[in-house]
Amino acid sequence: MANVSRETSDSSPEGIESANDVLRRIFGDSDSSVGADLLDESNRLEKVSQSTFPRSRSTRIIAVANQKGGVGKTTTTVNLASAFAEAGMNVLVLDMDPQGNASTALGIRHPSGTASIYDVIEGRKSVSDVVQVCPDFDTLDVVPSTIDLSGAELEIATLDNRTELLKEALDTYLKQSARHYDYIFIDCAPSLGLLVLNSLRTAHEVLIPIQAEYYALEGLGQLLKTIQLVQSSFNPDLDISMMLVTMYDRRTMLSKEVYEEVERHYPQVLLKATIPRAVRISEAPSFAQSIIAYDPKSAGAIAYREAALEIARRGAPVHDK
Ligand code: ADP
Ligand code: MG
Repeated sequence: MANVSRETSDSSPEGIESANDVLRRIFGDSDSSVGADLLDESNRLEKVSQSTFPRSRSTRIIAVANQKGGVGKTTTTVNLASAFAEAGMNVLVLDMDPQGNASTALGIRHPSGTASIYDVIEGRKSVSDVVQVCPDFDTLDVVPSTIDLSGAELEIATLDNRTELLKEALDTYLKQSARHYDYIFIDCAPSLGLLVLNSLRTAHEVLIPIQAEYYALEGLGQLLKTIQLVQSSFNPDLDISMMLVTMYDRRTMLSKEVYEEVERHYPQVLLKATIPRAVRISEAPSFAQSIIAYDPKSAGAIAYREAALEIARRGAPVHDK
């Protein structure tokens, strides 16, 4: 066993195949569930590592939203963004949560007073003034947030263009930026306030992470109503294009039931990939890293790459107008 795990975690990409062979030889015909899991992960890693991510013709702007806290919005934002960057795509993450967890997880320090999305929303700075590069991936840019952003909702409340601030700033930046972004992810705050409205105004697509737990679909109606309101009042092109079940535990019936229920209600948008509940995923942010950088061969890293590949293969939603 010791040899097997050393091989699977330390080998170079060329070593993946041989690690697979070892696993097949040892566990191929056995009923061991640990062995089967290892073999399954090893096969999936090999497959996703060898896949090419199709590029989208235009920039896809995806808001990761759910007004519930703790469902995996930030984790999904940083790990999908990292998976796309690892695959060579140009990616921008906009941290729109005053907690700044996405900034932390991508290795960007953001103490109060750091030039951030807060200054952009309030018109003091442009996106190009505050954007930083993630230390782990050259093609992953991050606009950090700070706790100061928590004051923005009140401070912008009386402005006429209060729902347009992020979109205007991003449009300006994209026009002048030398980098053509393939993906822009917006990590939304757990609310349905002005910051989230700005995010939904700016995005083309919404990805809703759904935690595999008993109350998974509770509150989803409210979120969908808000998104419909945004669609009808100021962003008709917005699509709820994806749902992703997070913290999935294969050993429980509950996880399976949650997946099936979401699938029953939203078969078009639910991603086939699911994200396992995994300790490595939750400890990565304390090392200021995504799971893709922190433990690239772990089950969580594999699952986020699979989700990214599925998103790339589906492509942007088509509007027949
Ligand atoms: P949100 O942004 O929706 O509030 P987070 O992404 O911050 O949610 O996740 C909430 C907590 O759950 C965090 O502590 C995070 O590390 C943990 N977490 C998220 N996804 C997983 C997972 N797949 N496995 C284990 N822990 C997870
Ligand atoms: Mg969050």
